[in-house]
Amino acid sequence: MQNKTIAQLAADLRLRLYSSVELTQHYLERIARLDPRLNSFITVTAEQALAEAARADQLLRSGEAGPLTGIPIAHKDIFCTQGVKTSCGSRMLDPFIAPYDATVVERLAAAGAVMLGKTNMDEFAMGSSNETSWYGPVKNPWDEGRVPGGSSGGSAAAVAARLCAAATGTDTGGSIRQPAAFCGITGLKPTYGLCSRWGMVAFASSLDQAGVLARSAADAACLLDEMAGFDPRDSTSAEVSVPDYVDALDNDLHGLRIGLPREYFGGGLDPAIGDRVMDAVREYERLGACIQEISLPNSPLAVPVYYVIAPAECSSNLARFDGVRYGYRCADPSDLEDLYKRSRAEGFGAEVKRRIMIGTYVLSAGYYDAYYLKAQRVRQLIAADFRRAFEQVDVIMGPTTPTTAFALGAKLDDPVAMYLNDIYTIPANLAGLPALSIPIEPLAGLPVGLQIIGDHFQEARLLNVAHRYQHVTHWHQAAPPGFD
Ligand code: GLN
Repeated sequence: MQNKTIAQLAADLRLRLYSSVELTQHYLERIARLDPRLNSFITVTAEQALAEAARADQLLRSGEAGPLTGIPIAHKDIFCTQGVKTSCGSRMLDPFIAPYDATVVERLAAAGAVMLGKTNMDEFAMGSSNETSWYGPVKNPWDEGRVPGGSSGGSAAAVAARLCAAATGTDTGGSIRQPAAFCGITGLKPTYGLCSRWGMVAFASSLDQAGVLARSAADAACLLDEMAGFDPRDSTSAEVSVPDYVDALDNDLHGLRIGLPREYFGGGLDPAIGDRVMDAVREYERLGACIQEISLPNSPLAVPVYYVIAPAECSSNLARFDGVRYGYRCADPSDLEDLYKRSRAEGFGAEVKRRIMIGTYVLSAGYYDAYYLKAQRVRQLIAADFRRAFEQVDVIMGPTTPTTAFALGAKLDDPVAMYLNDIYTIPANLAGLPALSIPIEPLAGLPVGLQIIGDHFQEARLLNVAHRYQHVTHWHQAAPPGFD
């Protein structure tokens, strides 16, 4: 069952080959047996899942089921889930039980999806390896000595290991695409504003976007169909009409114009990854696409710009965690100041503190113009590069990451090396563009991701482009040994 697509599972449920309760039990059994090796879940909501599955079975019997009714999924622990711990991977929120559901959670539940639990993540979504979680690192199911990527590493590992049919994630600088690449699955970061951020714990509000981690583009389309769309509770939610993503999957690719940015194939990229990306591009040529080289000249500035803007926004967003209103409070504070200081010192981990300090610095009087304002200007140049590129091409392709998954601990003491993981993913966040990663030919047994970036609100096109490749190749079907 765990290797079937969401469409197959949905068809089986309708034919009563098994019930949603049986399917849910099957995944819960896999989580209990296999997840102690991976640590991909922070919370497993077995009882609630079985109750939701029983309700889904009723809908299936009465013929009122939708495409996701009875399908077991997981949510990144950054999404508020009513009555269920929402930790954001942090000691700070370890005691926090959310009093409401995030819009994304609410919509998927309304569509009949069954929530198996909440997945592990880098603390407050800051990281590229899932090693900054208060709940310990997640292991990559392809090699348990390696990281799954981050920050949505729990979701990526859980989907790759077939512990759930699909999962939600968030992507501020690459946190859906990079772990998808490292774990050999499909990860979509939609256009900024397509999926509501309401009820999603904020990291860097102008960059954060909810999205999907799934085994295929077709599965991702099933979830996005339910998640996308205007939400009046999120002031940056886009008032656009949302197409049917599943309907567009099979569109023909003849005449598709693919741009390959010169800057994405330079130094720093493992040449063997570059070769595999070019093999995938040739597959697209066989499917009728035409290829041209393009330039995104300001993309080398994306990482430095991101590491001014994201910490600035995080220092402001995380000011609310003061030991008074939410989550962790230190023991026996001597006065108010001691309460603030020790609650934050004990509640946050090292990476979060580093970002808060950088953010506070770049926003302070005297430095605001030199760093924050300058970074916002360069951000506009990066966005303009993409605008020019999309006058010539329909989609942009390149590697998702410069390397395959690295060993646990390898980059923990070198934040800059860790930050450089996101060199190819961050530009899309700065420009608010949709982008996805799909698995292509692996390298030495480890997954490799192809990144496809589209113009604003071109998710249907991206999923279509990814799906056609998955139609003629089988890389996305490979399961990590021992998890098949
Ligand atoms: N790895 C990047 C960071 O540490 C991106 C994280 C994300 O997308 N949430 O900020």
